[in-house]
Amino acid sequence: MAETGRIPVPLRLCRGCRRFVNLDGREDCVFCGADLAAAEAEHEANLAEMRRAADALREALAGLR
Ligand SMILES: [Zn+2]
Repeated sequence: MAETGRIPVPLRLCRGCRRFVNLDGREDCVFCGADLAAAEAEHEANLAEMRRAADALREALAGLR
């Protein structure tokens, strides 16, 4: 493999606008201004809530049989 000497740019997905942000030492999104850590935490909370709802639905459906 050729040695290019390039360092991959660290990108982070903004949960606010779903775009990849070049961090460059920033903690907020250059596109929508969202706080990346806060948006990520909210996304995780939404995922957890979605899993709980899916589990409850699965249990409810199992009870129908
Ligand atoms: Zn954003």
